[in-house]
Amino acid sequence: TSKQRLLVVANRLPVSAVRHGEDSWQLEMSVGGLVTALLGVKEFDTRWIGWAGVNVPDEIGQKALAKALDEKRCIPVFLDEEVVHQYYNGYCNNILWPLFHYIGLPQEDRLATTRSFQSQFDAYKKANQLFADVVNEHYEEGDVVWCHDYHLMFLPKCLKERNSKMKVGWFLHTPFPSSEIHRMLPSRLELLRSVLAADLVGFHTYDYARHFVSACTRILGLEGTPEGVEDQGKLTRIAAFPVGIDSERFIKALELPEVQDHMKVLKQRFAGRKVMLGVDRLDMIKGIPQKILAFEKFLEENPNWCNKVVLLQIAVPTRTDVPEYQKLTSQVHEIVGRINGRFGSLTAVPIHHLDRSLDFHELCALYAVTDVALVTSLRDGMNLVSYEYVACQESKKGVLILSEFAGAAQSLGAGAILVNPWNVTEVASSIGYALNMPADEREKRHHHNFKHVISHTAQEWAATFVSELNVTIVEAQLRT
Ligand code: UDP
Repeated sequence: TSKQRLLVVANRLPVSAVRHGEDSWQLEMSVGGLVTALLGVKEFDTRWIGWAGVNVPDEIGQKALAKALDEKRCIPVFLDEEVVHQYYNGYCNNILWPLFHYIGLPQEDRLATTRSFQSQFDAYKKANQLFADVVNEHYEEGDVVWCHDYHLMFLPKCLKERNSKMKVGWFLHTPFPSSEIHRMLPSRLELLRSVLAADLVGFHTYDYARHFVSACTRILGLEGTPEGVEDQGKLTRIAAFPVGIDSERFIKALELPEVQDHMKVLKQRFAGRKVMLGVDRLDMIKGIPQKILAFEKFLEENPNWCNKVVLLQIAVPTRTDVPEYQKLTSQVHEIVGRINGRFGSLTAVPIHHLDRSLDFHELCALYAVTDVALVTSLRDGMNLVSYEYVACQESKKGVLILSEFAGAAQSLGAGAILVNPWNVTEVASSIGYALNMPADEREKRHHHNFKHVISHTAQEWAATFVSELNVTIVEAQLRT
């Protein structure tokens, strides 16, 4: 084909792989945001490179998996268990994730983390080099290589060292923190330098991009320009590319009989009550306890609402083997139990809390029938749940209460009620404001956000990033 080849490198391949025999694998594509984004970009011939999420120690298994994945245009990177433990669980999830979300290192094993820092960082570099080896093996001249997320901050450098002509972009899906946070990392210099090896570096918001540039100026002493960061005449372009969703997929789903059936059941079940919705992974960054405490305060101050409103909180389990996450789970359960005990009646409770995920159709139905969505992230790269809610509210025109610490606040701020999730008083009064909002104001706010969500799609995001990367490289060639 004459299409430009795009190699998308991310920690996880968009498949789940289950082994059925020595040389037999069952694969299922997962429809995460990135996959739908790139499926919609028809002008590129896209391949995926990443870890399949399973340990495959034997060569027969590896060959069989690679062959099966090839049909899905996926190329596996094999990581052994020790590397996964140190690189993925350790450096990525225990160090970079909490730090980039301003949580700091896990309280309980701070000293242990400090001690194992170097070995985890070494594993991180080693893993990134393994990704680079697979990219190099499959790279053809002219390909665009798009590296994703905090797992692969070392990859641009590994790739460029080997081939300085390779077109390399890197995009961060989390926040990039203030330089004051980044400078706590013992590996602060190396990480920044390796990201700067890319031609184009992208973030969800201008704030994150600005934080990155100021980390480069303060920590590396480089020069920041409106275009990016300059190092001895070499420019790395830095810009904001806010991701979106495949809004059409949600809007179309609402027409399906199955979704309509779910909607009918939900409407009957909660007839006569206003319904508020929370959908989050059960992660500390989502501010679930803060959300529930604000709801409690609202009930406390507005006893007349007690049997007229219900909060449905979907808390998708995540990293359930990690003590910090287990603690959060029981903390949330305790608060929910207390509030339901305090405000519930024999026939109804104010909070329905579910520790599980929903399938796509159930989720769409929930988005469509609820009156208010509550997003109280303490930090969140973007937060796609808020976009999905807006996409499904074309008939109901519900209200979005959105944390100012979610990237989405930059794009949906005009239509949403923005809140500081730490300010329980403010969130509680916003709940009251949202529940009492007159129809014309709801309509106006919804319309504003709906227009944004349907015109800034995931497909457009991906196409913009890649074309910007191509332009950046042409401009760099013109300068030299
Ligand atoms: N989601 C899902 N099943 C559920 C609940 C949520 O697939 O039961 C999806 C949801 O549709 C959204 C994603 O999980 O696309 C969450 O993305 P977001 O950016 O809000 O937060 P993240 O989990 O990436 O931090």
